[in-house]
Amino acid sequence: MRNDTFAKELISFIDSSPSPFHVVHNLKKTLRDHGFIGLDPKSHWELQKKGRYFTVMNDSALIAFEIGEGNIEEEGFKMIAAHTDSPAFKIKPFPEMRIKNYIKLNTESYGGAILHTWLDRPLSIAGRVVLKSQNPLNPTKRLIDFKEPIVIIPSLSIHMNRTVNEGVKFNKQKDTLPLLGVVNDEFGEKNRILRLIAQNLDVKIEEILDFDLILYPVEKGLITGMNKEFISSPKLDDLAMVHAGLKAIISARQTSGINVLVCYDNEEIGSATKQGADSPMLPYVLERILLSLGKGREDYFRALSNSFMISADMAHALHPNYEEKQDPTHHPLINGGPVIKINADQKYATDADTSAVYQEICQKAGVPVQKFVNRSDELGGSTIGPISATQLGIRCIDVGNPMLSMHSVRELGGVLDHEYIIKSFETFYGL
Ligand SMILES: [Zn+2]
Repeated sequence: MRNDTFAKELISFIDSSPSPFHVVHNLKKTLRDHGFIGLDPKSHWELQKKGRYFTVMNDSALIAFEIGEGNIEEEGFKMIAAHTDSPAFKIKPFPEMRIKNYIKLNTESYGGAILHTWLDRPLSIAGRVVLKSQNPLNPTKRLIDFKEPIVIIPSLSIHMNRTVNEGVKFNKQKDTLPLLGVVNDEFGEKNRILRLIAQNLDVKIEEILDFDLILYPVEKGLITGMNKEFISSPKLDDLAMVHAGLKAIISARQTSGINVLVCYDNEEIGSATKQGADSPMLPYVLERILLSLGKGREDYFRALSNSFMISADMAHALHPNYEEKQDPTHHPLINGGPVIKINADQKYATDADTSAVYQEICQKAGVPVQKFVNRSDELGGSTIGPISATQLGIRCIDVGNPMLSMHSVRELGGVLDHEYIIKSFETFYGL
């Protein structure tokens, strides 16, 4: 019988985290429950050794850390980085479009979704709504999650597209707009979305200034396979790694250095935002930790030189229907353990030195480890590792759990792998 406790926890974490804002909200709650104290970036920080803290950027990115007892400049930071965002559709500001009596919503895609997987699925809407406040510079922000399915993107019938099974090219301004409902009135009321938001949040329409809202599938994740070995769920990329990092930083043995978990936003669109990996968010926080502990800039640079980062983002398993897509000598399999991602052009931050470190960590943790390289004639993706390592100038490795269907609305990972990678992260933090 497999231990599916962690996989079940992951599924419920993902189910309650339909947008990056909800991811961070849930992270904050769990961290607080385990003694982590929230730090306002605008306040003066007075940190203590053995203290556990977190701070948030834009409500959608978070850095949690635990300060050890040792000399920080000698012990350095042990960091795990993951991302809170996943491909989705974002609702445009004035989204309602009327086609006869149908009301549909104008959206744009966020990141690189496999578009056809979004069709014919019950979808809901979640995100952040910004409301008027007394201070124009600091409007009030509220989370929203409609929870119920309220929109759907219907596909075109095969009778109207006889060549559909030979492949469809999707136009994002035409083919993927979701249907909200049918109205009977001839002219119709406007601002239905705003009225739905106002109702849900119990505020007046006039109070709503703007929103960051995305569509998400309401069908929940589950465990499947003849031996219950697979996790089928939305957003495994990269909430599986966010969840694994969270589990590890909470339960790891306290050591002399500083354990850090950084959950960036906006990886799916290149990381170049204030809450993304290509920002000074992490360096600022790391330096503030040192300053608050009475250390200087020289100590900060020494600490960085003694630091190590695991950039944790999901990896491609061998696909049983497309063996030819994998590299001829590397075949990561689901439930074969965490995957070290390697690329000669450094689309992944891994080098022989950092790969050796993670292999040793896995051995100490008693978990298997695999390696991934692209076929030399396939481009492959990139991730936060090289960006974050370049910002900080520290040793970094890219790892992730093997999965299939990456960027589908519903992805496939392994039950065992989730437990394996949590163990490896706990071992890393406990070194
Ligand atoms: Zn990812």
